Amino acid sequence: MHIIIIGGSFGGLNTAYDLRRLLPHHSHEITLISKEPRFIFIPSLPWVAMGSKTLDDISFDLAHPLKSKGINFVEAAVTGIDPAASHVHTGTGIYDYDYLVVATGHRSANEAVPGLGPFDGPGHSLMSPPEAEEARTTWAAFLQDPGPMVVGCAPGASCVGPAYEFMFEAHHALKKRALAHRAPITFITPEPFLGHFGVGGFGKARQFFEGELEQRDVRYHTSTAISKITADRVETADGKSFESRYSMIIPALGGVKVVAEAPGLANPKGFIPVDANYRHNDFPNIYAVGVAVAMPPVEETPVPVNFPKTGHMTEQMARIAAKNIAADILGGEKTSHDLMVECIMDMGDKGAHLVADPVRPPRNRSSMSSGKRWLWAKRFFAGYYLWKLRRGANRSPKWVW
Ligand SMILES: Cc1cc2nc3c(=O)[nH]c(=O)nc-3n(C[C@H](O)[C@H](O)[C@H](O)COP(=O)(O)OP(=O)(O)OC[C@H]3O[C@@H](n4cnc5c(N)ncnc54)[C@H](O)[C@@H]3O)c2cc1C
Repeated sequence: MHIIIIGGSFGGLNTAYDLRRLLPHHSHEITLISKEPRFIFIPSLPWVAMGSKTLDDISFDLAHPLKSKGINFVEAAVTGIDPAASHVHTGTGIYDYDYLVVATGHRSANEAVPGLGPFDGPGHSLMSPPEAEEARTTWAAFLQDPGPMVVGCAPGASCVGPAYEFMFEAHHALKKRALAHRAPITFITPEPFLGHFGVGGFGKARQFFEGELEQRDVRYHTSTAISKITADRVETADGKSFESRYSMIIPALGGVKVVAEAPGLANPKGFIPVDANYRHNDFPNIYAVGVAVAMPPVEETPVPVNFPKTGHMTEQMARIAAKNIAADILGGEKTSHDLMVECIMDMGDKGAHLVADPVRPPRNRSSMSSGKRWLWAKRFFAGYYLWKLRRGANRSPKWVW
């Protein structure tokens, strides 16, 4: 059997390691194809934007760890997927598979908000390594001559956490330099209330974040749709306009082009519909994990907010998919369970720890707490995660993210 995995990030790498442990080497070949030769710890991109980390600090080359585990690595962009024929096309050749795992993450729909660059418009983003590096340069320049700024999320965004992190970290950086009075921050979000995060909130997150923004003199606007970004303003669909000399806006996401264009593979947004085992609804030999998976929002909101697919959730999906592929091949029980989410947010001077189990309400557990200890935990965890994944170990400890 030949199992191909597309994507070398949280979804792809965790699936590859789990499958390698579950399937005998001599009879089952595993190939991971990624256009990016490195594993990059994406949750640390806000630190790259702020200038406290470089991409080298938060990444490692995939080739060696994969080879040492007996997994083939192909560094190539997949240019076509033919689900009916079980082929994957790349610039370097065509690969046949018995099972395919798609872990290609997202495409940022920056074009949905005119002016949301950063490479073809004045608005900044940090959803990808090149965008975070662009933000790093422009943020450093902004600190030399600061002014009013807007941080927020576009309508339909799902990954809203990084907007909060950037806002808190930016405020902290400005305050440390005694520049906060020159750079008032406005936070604009499609969420119906602060701390909703596309999951309906976490414990007392709403009261907590309202208090934290008020304490920092950050003005906020919820249920608000950003409609346009210019060099010095951010406009919203309700006719308001906010002065902004630095606009960091998290876009809505879609599936990557090659997935969106594969016949019968994805929904109109380019995400892949799967069952509870992370198996494609129509192609039994295709599985999908991570951001590539189609997941409905938890509830309807006045301005759309989509369901977040975090790194921690991606890791859980990878584990479930790997077990089910192994069960398909070797026989045995299929597995599935509700996803939970746990994450730590950097708030500049402290951290916030959020838990929702399961992610979709109603829940058995929903909590949040904050303090300096969570900031240290986040910093430690990022390094620890890279260290363990580089060594082919992908078991998270009980306290995570
Ligand atoms: C700024 C930011 C902060 C975040 N913070 C957190 C956090 O604190 N906690 C948390 O749990 N989650 C966080 N997340 C979410 C987390 O990063 C994602 O859930 C995770 O990266 C999803 O992993 P993935 O494998 O599904 O996709 P991705 O990480 O997007 O990886 C996709 C992979 O597919 C490859 N690929 C794509 N297209 C092709 C192609 N055509 N051919 C070959 N390879 C291809 C890419 O090179 C990459 O290796 C954050 C996300 C962002 C953007």
